Amino acid sequence: MPELPEVETIARQLRARGVEGKEILSVKVNWARTVEPLPVASFSRQVRGTTIDKISRVGKWMMFSLSSGKTIMIHLRMSGSCSMTPGLYDRLVLKLSDGLTLYYRDTRKFGRWKLVDDPQIILGKLGPDALTQRFTKKYFRAAMRARHRMIKPLILDQSIVAGLGNIYADEALWEAQIHPERLSDSLGDDELDRLFKAIRHVLTIGVRNRGTSLGDGKTNYRDVAGDSGGHREQVKAYGRGGKPCDRCGTALEKTVVAQRGTTFCPACQQLDQ
Ligand SMILES: [Zn+2]
Repeated sequence: MPELPEVETIARQLRARGVEGKEILSVKVNWARTVEPLPVASFSRQVRGTTIDKISRVGKWMMFSLSSGKTIMIHLRMSGSCSMTPGLYDRLVLKLSDGLTLYYRDTRKFGRWKLVDDPQIILGKLGPDALTQRFTKKYFRAAMRARHRMIKPLILDQSIVAGLGNIYADEALWEAQIHPERLSDSLGDDELDRLFKAIRHVLTIGVRNRGTSLGDGKTNYRDVAGDSGGHREQVKAYGRGGKPCDRCGTALEKTVVAQRGTTFCPACQQLDQ
Protein backbone atom coordinates (compact mmCIF):
# COMPACT_ATOMS: atom_id res chain seq x y z
CA MET A 1 0.00 0.00 0.00
CA PRO A 2 1.64 3.27 -1.06
CA GLU A 3 2.52 5.59 1.83
CA LEU A 4 4.63 8.75 1.86
CA PRO A 5 7.92 7.08 0.75
CA GLU A 6 6.28 5.23 -2.12
CA VAL A 7 4.41 8.30 -3.40
CA GLU A 8 7.57 10.41 -3.07
CA THR A 9 9.52 7.78 -5.02
CA ILE A 10 6.96 7.80 -7.84
CA ALA A 11 6.89 11.63 -7.97
CA ARG A 12 10.71 11.79 -8.15
CA GLN A 13 10.87 9.15 -10.85
CA LEU A 14 8.22 10.85 -12.98
CA ARG A 15 10.22 14.07 -12.71
CA ALA A 16 13.42 12.22 -13.60
CA ARG A 17 11.72 10.77 -16.69
CA GLY A 18 10.88 14.26 -17.88
CA VAL A 19 7.12 14.24 -17.34
CA GLU A 20 7.24 17.84 -16.06
CA GLY A 21 6.91 20.31 -18.92
CA LYS A 22 5.16 17.86 -21.21
CA GLU A 23 1.85 18.57 -22.87
CA ILE A 24 -1.00 16.10 -22.44
CA LEU A 25 -1.92 15.19 -26.02
CA SER A 26 -4.61 12.64 -25.25
CA VAL A 27 -6.34 10.99 -22.31
CA LYS A 28 -7.76 7.49 -22.18
CA VAL A 29 -9.71 6.48 -19.10
CA ASN A 30 -10.29 2.72 -18.89
CA TRP A 31 -11.97 2.75 -15.48
CA ALA A 32 -14.41 5.64 -15.21
CA ARG A 33 -14.44 5.81 -11.42
CA THR A 34 -10.74 6.70 -11.41
CA VAL A 35 -11.68 10.30 -12.28
CA GLU A 36 -14.87 10.59 -10.24
CA PRO A 37 -16.80 12.67 -9.47
CA LEU A 38 -16.16 14.05 -12.99
CA PRO A 39 -17.55 12.18 -15.98
CA VAL A 40 -14.76 10.82 -18.19
CA ALA A 41 -15.58 13.19 -21.07
CA SER A 42 -15.38 16.24 -18.83
CA PHE A 43 -12.10 15.15 -17.22
CA SER A 44 -10.54 14.41 -20.61
CA ARG A 45 -11.69 17.68 -22.16
CA GLN A 46 -10.30 19.76 -19.31
CA VAL A 47 -6.96 17.96 -19.17
CA ARG A 48 -6.19 17.53 -22.87
CA GLY A 49 -4.01 20.27 -24.33
CA THR A 50 -2.63 21.41 -20.96
CA THR A 51 0.96 21.07 -19.83
CA ILE A 52 2.07 19.32 -16.64
CA ASP A 53 4.02 22.23 -15.14
CA LYS A 54 4.99 20.66 -11.86
CA ILE A 55 4.79 17.35 -9.97
CA SER A 56 4.66 17.61 -6.19
CA ARG A 57 3.58 15.62 -3.14
CA VAL A 58 1.94 16.28 0.21
CA GLY A 59 1.30 13.30 2.51
CA LYS A 60 0.06 10.47 0.33
CA TRP A 61 -1.22 12.82 -2.40
CA MET A 62 0.68 13.45 -5.63
CA MET A 63 -0.19 16.58 -7.57
CA PHE A 64 0.18 17.50 -11.24
CA SER A 65 -0.09 21.30 -11.55
CA LEU A 66 -1.46 22.03 -15.01
CA SER A 67 -0.86 25.08 -17.20
CA SER A 68 -4.62 25.72 -17.10
CA GLY A 69 -4.33 26.55 -13.38
CA LYS A 70 -6.12 23.37 -12.39
CA THR A 71 -4.48 20.52 -10.48
CA ILE A 72 -4.80 16.76 -10.82
CA MET A 73 -4.68 15.30 -7.29
CA ILE A 74 -3.71 11.64 -7.37
CA HIS A 75 -4.27 9.24 -4.49
CA LEU A 76 -2.90 5.73 -5.12
CA ARG A 77 -4.91 4.13 -2.29
CA MET A 78 -4.35 0.33 -2.12
CA SER A 79 -2.49 -0.52 -5.30
CA GLY A 80 -2.05 2.47 -7.63
CA SER A 81 1.24 2.97 -9.45
CA CYS A 82 2.63 4.77 -12.49
CA SER A 83 4.68 3.41 -15.37
CA MET A 84 6.06 4.62 -18.67
CA THR A 85 5.36 1.27 -20.31
CA PRO A 86 1.96 -0.41 -20.82
CA GLY A 87 0.76 -3.27 -18.63
CA LEU A 88 -2.27 -5.11 -17.37
CA TYR A 89 -4.65 -3.08 -15.19
CA ASP A 90 -3.87 0.31 -16.77
CA ARG A 91 -6.84 2.43 -15.68
CA LEU A 92 -5.78 5.70 -17.24
CA VAL A 93 -3.30 6.54 -20.00
CA LEU A 94 -1.87 9.98 -20.79
CA LYS A 95 -0.14 10.44 -24.12
CA LEU A 96 2.41 13.21 -23.65
CA SER A 97 4.52 15.31 -26.00
CA ASP A 98 8.02 14.11 -26.99
CA GLY A 99 6.77 10.54 -27.38
CA LEU A 100 6.20 9.84 -23.67
CA THR A 101 3.20 7.93 -22.36
CA LEU A 102 2.21 7.74 -18.71
CA TYR A 103 0.26 4.66 -17.61
CA TYR A 104 -1.66 4.71 -14.35
CA ARG A 105 -1.96 1.12 -13.15
CA ASP A 106 -4.25 -0.02 -10.34
CA THR A 107 -5.24 -3.65 -9.81
CA ARG A 108 -7.76 -2.94 -7.07
CA LYS A 109 -9.17 0.21 -8.68
CA PHE A 110 -9.47 2.29 -5.49
CA GLY A 111 -7.01 4.98 -6.63
CA ARG A 112 -8.38 8.35 -7.73
CA TRP A 113 -7.39 11.22 -10.04
CA LYS A 114 -9.30 14.30 -8.93
CA LEU A 115 -9.22 17.42 -11.08
CA VAL A 116 -9.59 20.46 -8.83
CA ASP A 117 -9.41 24.25 -9.13
CA ASP A 118 -7.66 24.62 -5.80
CA PRO A 119 -5.57 21.86 -4.17
CA GLN A 120 -6.32 23.40 -0.77
CA ILE A 121 -9.79 21.85 -1.00
CA ILE A 122 -8.00 18.59 -0.16
CA LEU A 123 -4.67 19.71 1.32
CA GLY A 124 -6.39 22.09 3.74
CA LYS A 125 -7.83 19.10 5.59
CA LEU A 126 -4.43 17.47 6.10
CA GLY A 127 -2.09 17.86 9.04
CA PRO A 128 1.54 18.77 8.32
CA ASP A 129 3.46 16.44 6.01
CA ALA A 130 5.64 14.26 8.21
CA LEU A 131 8.84 15.08 6.32
CA THR A 132 8.45 18.86 6.18
CA GLN A 133 9.58 21.53 8.63
CA ARG A 134 5.92 22.16 9.48
CA PHE A 135 5.88 18.87 11.36
CA THR A 136 7.71 19.82 14.57
CA LYS A 137 8.30 18.11 17.88
CA LYS A 138 6.30 20.84 19.60
CA TYR A 139 3.34 20.40 17.26
CA PHE A 140 3.45 16.62 17.67
CA ARG A 141 3.52 16.73 21.47
CA ALA A 142 0.59 19.17 21.58
CA ALA A 143 -1.46 17.21 19.03
CA MET A 144 -1.02 13.94 20.93
CA ARG A 145 -1.71 15.50 24.34
CA ALA A 146 -4.87 17.24 23.12
CA ARG A 147 -6.46 13.87 22.35
CA HIS A 148 -7.41 10.78 24.27
CA ARG A 149 -7.03 8.17 21.54
CA MET A 150 -5.01 5.05 20.89
CA ILE A 151 -1.67 6.10 19.47
CA LYS A 152 -1.65 3.96 16.34
CA PRO A 153 -4.94 5.13 14.79
CA LEU A 154 -4.01 8.67 15.82
CA ILE A 155 -0.74 8.71 13.85
CA LEU A 156 -2.61 7.14 10.90
CA ASP A 157 -5.08 10.05 10.97
CA GLN A 158 -4.04 12.21 8.00
CA SER A 159 -5.65 15.30 9.55
CA ILE A 160 -3.07 15.07 12.37
CA VAL A 161 0.04 14.12 10.42
CA ALA A 162 0.10 13.38 6.69
CA GLY A 163 2.05 10.51 5.17
CA LEU A 164 1.93 7.48 7.46
CA GLY A 165 0.02 4.33 6.59
CA ASN A 166 -0.10 0.94 8.25
CA ILE A 167 3.45 -0.18 7.41
CA TYR A 168 5.36 2.88 8.59
CA ALA A 169 3.08 3.34 11.63
CA ASP A 170 4.02 -0.15 12.87
CA GLU A 171 7.67 0.55 12.09
CA ALA A 172 7.71 3.87 13.93
CA LEU A 173 5.98 2.45 17.03
CA TRP A 174 8.40 -0.48 17.10
CA GLU A 175 11.37 1.84 16.78
CA ALA A 176 10.06 4.14 19.53
CA GLN A 177 9.17 1.11 21.72
CA ILE A 178 5.58 2.21 22.21
CA HIS A 179 2.60 -0.17 22.32
CA PRO A 180 0.14 0.65 19.50
CA GLU A 181 -2.80 0.79 21.95
CA ARG A 182 -1.25 3.26 24.39
CA LEU A 183 -3.48 6.30 24.86
CA SER A 184 -2.01 9.42 23.28
CA ASP A 185 -2.37 11.58 26.41
CA SER A 186 -0.68 8.94 28.58
CA LEU A 187 2.63 9.28 26.74
CA GLY A 188 5.47 11.18 28.39
CA ASP A 189 7.63 13.82 26.72
CA ASP A 190 10.43 11.31 26.20
CA GLU A 191 8.10 8.82 24.57
CA LEU A 192 6.53 11.41 22.28
CA ASP A 193 9.93 12.75 21.28
CA ARG A 194 11.09 9.21 20.55
CA LEU A 195 8.02 8.57 18.42
CA PHE A 196 8.42 11.89 16.57
CA LYS A 197 12.01 10.99 15.73
CA ALA A 198 11.04 7.44 14.74
CA ILE A 199 8.31 8.67 12.36
CA ARG A 200 10.78 10.92 10.56
CA HIS A 201 13.44 8.22 10.57
CA VAL A 202 11.38 5.34 9.14
CA LEU A 203 9.92 7.59 6.42
CA THR A 204 13.35 8.99 5.50
CA ILE A 205 14.83 5.51 5.24
CA GLY A 206 11.77 4.45 3.22
CA VAL A 207 12.33 7.26 0.71
CA ARG A 208 16.03 6.44 0.51
CA ASN A 209 15.18 2.82 -0.30
CA ARG A 210 12.55 3.75 -2.91
CA GLY A 211 9.65 2.43 -0.83
CA THR A 212 8.53 -0.90 0.48
CA SER A 213 7.03 -3.95 -1.13
CA LEU A 214 5.87 -6.73 1.12
CA GLY A 215 5.07 -9.67 -1.05
CA ASP A 216 5.06 -10.97 -4.56
CA GLY A 217 1.37 -10.47 -5.35
CA LYS A 218 0.13 -8.35 -8.22
CA THR A 219 -1.24 -5.65 -5.91
CA ASN A 220 2.13 -4.94 -4.34
CA TYR A 221 3.83 -1.63 -4.68
CA ARG A 222 5.99 -1.03 -7.73
CA ASP A 223 7.92 2.11 -8.59
CA VAL A 224 7.87 3.70 -12.04
CA ALA A 225 10.55 1.31 -13.27
CA GLY A 226 8.51 -1.68 -12.08
CA ASP A 227 10.87 -2.40 -9.19
CA SER A 228 9.43 -3.40 -5.85
CA GLY A 229 11.40 -1.04 -3.62
CA GLY A 230 14.37 -1.89 -1.46
CA HIS A 231 12.94 -1.31 1.98
CA ARG A 232 11.52 -4.76 2.56
CA GLU A 233 14.72 -6.20 4.03
CA GLN A 234 14.80 -3.42 6.61
CA VAL A 235 11.24 -3.78 7.89
CA LYS A 236 11.37 -4.55 11.61
CA ALA A 237 7.74 -5.08 12.61
CA TYR A 238 5.16 -4.92 9.82
CA GLY A 239 4.33 -8.37 8.46
CA ARG A 240 6.82 -10.09 10.80
CA GLY A 241 4.31 -11.61 13.27
CA GLY A 242 5.81 -14.70 14.99
CA LYS A 243 9.36 -13.77 13.94
CA PRO A 244 11.93 -12.71 16.55
CA CYS A 245 12.18 -9.04 17.47
CA ASP A 246 15.39 -7.54 16.06
CA ARG A 247 16.05 -5.82 19.39
CA CYS A 248 15.26 -8.46 22.04
CA GLY A 249 14.50 -11.75 20.28
CA THR A 250 10.93 -12.10 21.62
CA ALA A 251 8.42 -13.36 19.05
CA LEU A 252 6.53 -10.41 17.53
CA GLU A 253 2.77 -10.47 18.02
CA LYS A 254 0.19 -9.90 15.31
CA THR A 255 -3.06 -8.35 16.45
CA VAL A 256 -5.75 -5.96 15.24
CA VAL A 257 -5.84 -2.33 16.42
CA ALA A 258 -8.67 -0.10 15.21
CA GLN A 259 -9.43 -2.61 12.44
CA ARG A 260 -5.88 -2.58 11.12
CA GLY A 261 -3.51 -5.54 11.21
CA THR A 262 -0.78 -4.58 13.65
CA THR A 263 2.53 -6.18 14.59
CA PHE A 264 4.50 -5.26 17.69
CA CYS A 265 6.96 -6.68 20.22
CA PRO A 266 5.17 -7.65 23.46
CA ALA A 267 8.44 -7.21 25.41
CA CYS A 268 9.78 -3.91 23.98
CA GLN A 269 6.37 -2.30 23.49
CA GLN A 270 4.38 -2.77 26.68
CA LEU A 271 0.87 -1.50 27.29
CA ASP A 272 1.24 -0.83 31.03
CA GLN A 273 3.86 1.84 31.59
ZN1 LIG B 1 11.52 -6.68 21.39
